[in-house]
Amino acid sequence: MKTENCKAYELLRKEELKGIKSTGYLLKHKKSGARVLLVENDDNNKVFSIGFRTPPSDSTGVPHIMEHSVLCGSRNFPAKDPFVELVKGSLNTFLNAMTYPDKTVYPVASCNEKDFQNLMHVYMDAVLYPNIYQHEEIFRQEGWSYKLDSKEDKLSYNGVVYNEMKGAFSSPEGVLDRVVLNTLFPDTSYANESGGDPEFIPDLTYEQFLDFHRTYYHPSNSYIYLYGDMDMEEKLNWLDQEYLSRYDAADVDSEIRLQKPFEEMVEKEIPYSIASEEPEEENTYLSYNKVIGTSLDKELYLAFQILDYALLSAPGAPLKKALTDAGIGKDIIGSYDNGIYQPVFSIIAKNADPEQKTAFVDTIETVLKNIVKNGMDKKALEAGINYHEFRYREADFGGYPKGLMYGLQMMDSWLYDENEPFMHIEALDTFEFLKNQVGGRYFEELIQTYLLNNTHGAVVVVKPEKGRTARMDRELDQKLQAYKDSLSEEEKEALVKRTKDLEEYQSAPDKEEDIQKIPVLKVSDISREIEPIRNEEMKLGNIPAVFHDIDTNGIGYVEVMFDLSGIPEEKLPYVGILQSVLGIIDTENYEYGELFNEINMHTGGIGTSLELYNDVTHIREKEFKATFEIKAKALYSQMPVAFSMMREILTASKLNDTARIREILAMLKSRLLMKFQSSGHTTAALRALSYASPSAKLKDMTNGIEFYQTVAEIEEHFEEKKEALSQELQNLAGQIFRADNMMISYTAEREGLEGLAKLTEELAAKLPEGEKEETACVIHCQKRNEGFKTASKVQYVARTGNFIDHGASYTGALQILKVILSYDYLWQNIRVKGGAYGCMSNFNRIGEGYMVSYRDPNLRRTMDVYEGVVEYLENFTVSDRDMNKYIIGTISNLDQPMTPAAKGDRSMNLYMNHVSEEMIRKERAEVLDAKQEDIRALAAVVKAMLSAEQICVIGGEDKMEENKEMFDCVTKF
Ligand SMILES: [Zn+2]
Repeated sequence: MKTENCKAYELLRKEELKGIKSTGYLLKHKKSGARVLLVENDDNNKVFSIGFRTPPSDSTGVPHIMEHSVLCGSRNFPAKDPFVELVKGSLNTFLNAMTYPDKTVYPVASCNEKDFQNLMHVYMDAVLYPNIYQHEEIFRQEGWSYKLDSKEDKLSYNGVVYNEMKGAFSSPEGVLDRVVLNTLFPDTSYANESGGDPEFIPDLTYEQFLDFHRTYYHPSNSYIYLYGDMDMEEKLNWLDQEYLSRYDAADVDSEIRLQKPFEEMVEKEIPYSIASEEPEEENTYLSYNKVIGTSLDKELYLAFQILDYALLSAPGAPLKKALTDAGIGKDIIGSYDNGIYQPVFSIIAKNADPEQKTAFVDTIETVLKNIVKNGMDKKALEAGINYHEFRYREADFGGYPKGLMYGLQMMDSWLYDENEPFMHIEALDTFEFLKNQVGGRYFEELIQTYLLNNTHGAVVVVKPEKGRTARMDRELDQKLQAYKDSLSEEEKEALVKRTKDLEEYQSAPDKEEDIQKIPVLKVSDISREIEPIRNEEMKLGNIPAVFHDIDTNGIGYVEVMFDLSGIPEEKLPYVGILQSVLGIIDTENYEYGELFNEINMHTGGIGTSLELYNDVTHIREKEFKATFEIKAKALYSQMPVAFSMMREILTASKLNDTARIREILAMLKSRLLMKFQSSGHTTAALRALSYASPSAKLKDMTNGIEFYQTVAEIEEHFEEKKEALSQELQNLAGQIFRADNMMISYTAEREGLEGLAKLTEELAAKLPEGEKEETACVIHCQKRNEGFKTASKVQYVARTGNFIDHGASYTGALQILKVILSYDYLWQNIRVKGGAYGCMSNFNRIGEGYMVSYRDPNLRRTMDVYEGVVEYLENFTVSDRDMNKYIIGTISNLDQPMTPAAKGDRSMNLYMNHVSEEMIRKERAEVLDAKQEDIRALAAVVKAMLSAEQICVIGGEDKMEENKEMFDCVTKF
């Protein structure tokens, strides 16, 4: 981008951000003084955020109430809840707002340019021109208000934030966090509660609330952030013209002040509420807290994350171990909060007793002194550094957009020094620095300076008190009663009227024209292009491989896949056991604990799984491939270690260690049972599909109900079966892990291929020889509609069938059907009317369809609802606006942004399933072009699925007995 094309801004700094492959620009908007940060790169998941520095001067929670209130309508978008409309009619990948102890931020994210612009527009309008000045009701609804329904009624407080904080103030962890912060910084804004203390929230007046907005929600006090692949110049000019140019720079005093260090550590004890039947013993939280420099110290910021890992968080870390061995608390946790100006390092013992306080402090200080004297465990430090560096480079934040997390991290320095936004995000040099310190005295000196010699600290004890909540509620009732008694009749009437007025404001529907003002996407705005498939067939040595050329920031994701085709049907459950055992059993060179540490010191982790790939070009033959996979992720330079550890697991595991196998089976059994109870819907749907689908049957045999039955059977007769089992596992390992049976899937940049062929060959050479036979998995299916009885009061009711087997075919419109059923028909009938917690459906390319309910009080009634889908679809009638919304909702599901690892997995899945780009493009077009009649036509698909009449229910004994005639058999697990 060219900043000279944005005349309204001054460029203060430009920086290449190597660690996150971006270019950073720090700007200032000349007229308004707004601080602007651009992070330009090719990430399509764009992020916009506007934040304000909002130090609270009391504990009324005004920053938090403001955060809620500005999203309740604004000048250009006056509907009362634009937020909810945006959630439904947009492709956003993030939409929220957050209040912190010193800042309030409003981030949005989307991969769609127009959607992104819409979200940005609504958010800018919300923060700068909220309707709070026109409608006091917003303050009363979100903050607090008196509630008096009639003159005779009890007077009470109401308000969204008021109620939210009452909840937050009752959790002991919440109490502890807050008190630590308040205690360590008594002379700064951190002494106050930005979220609001329910005791003080009612002290806030409407006028003070508006003043807070006037003071802090000014561009001069703002932090605007744009991230990703977009036309930055256009965005900057739009921001200038539409909003920023209307403001003149103002002098906003929102500085976060430094707390002067204490001369001596302080102590604080504070109660939290427990119910009268809960024990007071072993229910206290002991915490030891120290202030660690400021967040403007780049090395400290990272070094203490590593110390947290090495001293406290890793399994077997010295502080954790010493406190546990001394019997102080049942759980030891550490935290290092570096999202405030003066970061805090905390050591917390949960489930302790107050009289252990002295022993707690002594143990910590003794351990730390010994470490300073004898030196830190180098391996632990190296593991800690690698752990954090790996996560920094991988930047895999699961469902959260990368740009969002980067933006929040940049605030850790930017908020306290407006010239320093890049300090922590550009961390490669800092990691190098820290690596060089291992073996020296650097970390020991940090412990001496910041933990042992540092008097700016506090020991905070949070202690249980029985019936505290009830007592406080009583006191509040008395206070309100006294207030009510002091009022004249007219004043009481006025309160009743105000209560009614607020309710009227809330229940009045928005004007249609106001709703229309909220921008929603149209189908025509959505790209018809699909996410590219990146598969490149190659040989690594003699081994066939598929390479996925994806920008992974220097990390290789390797999957070694072994074909299971030759394994006879009756052996498959043992393959499931083999998969469960490998990686957590001793090997020839390591105990399993050491194995785990060694892996984490050099790589990002190693795991195993069983995968299934259905061939969509041979649907009628139901062809599929099953594989045993071992996967590793590591920096390219560490790939040799990843391969050698994979080899260790595959070839040197002690599968004759029957004592350990027994432990693993017991754990497996209890986990499977737990899974059936907590997510019985997927279990029941899989089981019902297995009546007619060989691949579903295989999955059930290795991870579902049949697998459980096998594991339970072996575990119960372990002594008689252990030798045979151990032999079986060794035979299978020899049969499966063979070079001629092997294939590689690899996701990385091209440079990450270097050396991989050699590593693959070396691994293959260590595997036993065998001869590849061209056999397919042969699996026999049989329909037997089953009911599984549990002790629960709710059911998981599954109905499945293959609609292709029964004469229908797949179309992209089925993806919309999922959304329609879940927003409308199934939602209405199974959740709203039936009282189930949830319900879902799926229809895939190989013809497998299911509908299943989740925590459902019904059984037969739910089956009837499924039958009703056909009629519902035959008569399906929809407005254009709703059809548009269903399509946007479907696209939003299909276009969920993916991490590099997920992109590689997707490409490999498509490769193995033989799905072509044309197929995906066709499906997408079928979604985008769908009309009412296309949805009506799906009645035939659902009818075909239902005609298979496959059912499986997991649920309560009574319901099952009542409906016995529906099943071929009713059993327990
Ligand atoms: Zn809130």
